[in-house]
Amino acid sequence: MKLAALGEFGLIDRIAARTGRGSGVRLGIGDDCAVLDPGVGVGFLVTTDMLVEGVHFDLSFTDPNRLGRKALAVNLSDLAAMGGKPRHLLLSLAMPRELPVEFVDAFCDGLLGVANEFGASLVGGDTCASLERLVISITAMGEQRPELVVRRSGACPGDLVFVTGTLGDAAVGLALLRAGEREGWSVTRHLDPTPRVREGMRLAEAGLATAMLDVSDGLLADLGHILRQSRCGARIDLARLPVAPPSWQEAGRLGGDPWRFPLAGGEDYELLFTVSPHRAGEVMRLFSGGETTATMIGEIVEGSGISVIAPDGGAYPVAEAGYNHFAPTSS
Ligand code: ADP
Ligand code: MG
Repeated sequence: MKLAALGEFGLIDRIAARTGRGSGVRLGIGDDCAVLDPGVGVGFLVTTDMLVEGVHFDLSFTDPNRLGRKALAVNLSDLAAMGGKPRHLLLSLAMPRELPVEFVDAFCDGLLGVANEFGASLVGGDTCASLERLVISITAMGEQRPELVVRRSGACPGDLVFVTGTLGDAAVGLALLRAGEREGWSVTRHLDPTPRVREGMRLAEAGLATAMLDVSDGLLADLGHILRQSRCGARIDLARLPVAPPSWQEAGRLGGDPWRFPLAGGEDYELLFTVSPHRAGEVMRLFSGGETTATMIGEIVEGSGISVIAPDGGAYPVAEAGYNHFAPTSS
């Protein structure tokens, strides 16, 4: 069946039928507004992200289930980046009338699966027809005590720079997808990223991170955001960057300078954060035993900009600055 046959309200009913009543929801899907209970003593965190077919995703690379997972993961990653606990979601969809209903079912399976995993519930949205391409917009709402929320602006000279997980995988995955591959570690990291929600909350609640964000545009570009807002510079040690062996191997096969992936590749959705040096041991303890790693990759310094130290101790020339949607050469 095509969406055209189901109709807008049939589709909304179908989405509503799969959505359980979340905590703090007085009224969910079905009326003009949702009615939510504001948490007592917590700050209300809100973020939104739009995904446009042909710009953010390619339906020949992914499948609807993974698209639903990623559409939500990128929003939850923004909450994670400030230490927020996910609570409620709005989902807006513009879809071609010719899209099969099974596509939307699989998309919702993926999205609601991730929502469930991280304790968020769908409370509303908007649905309309698109002439050609699929457009997905999600608004994620979360909470955290205001004094614990971690901003981009708190890094100080002397702080150590940490990153969770591994860097560059998603960019290697995208290059492989463009070359015709459809599976493997890096491809999965690109198509199905894991938002570091629990890690972000724990860092915030322990008061460990002085500044934090999620790596969506690439390490250099995103570290640049912390540095500009914190008015300082950084020194990064190339030899310390955490790279996953499978994607490092694949990066070698792709040719060119393999460091461009961990330095400038986007969409890993790892957390990049700074910590006062006397609390570095606490970071190691917080991550020990968990399945996610945290790696110290450099240091905040006085001044501005990023210097990258090559494994031989010399200066590594930094050219690529990450992803910019309006740059003439970005694709
Ligand atoms: P209105 O015309 O007042 O905007 P809609 O007909 O767009 O109302 O939506 C009816 C209800 O369905 C609302 O509660 C809205 O939040 C919900 N809704 C619409 N589209 C979606 C969607 N894609 N996902 C979840 N809820 C949705
Ligand atoms: Mg509407």
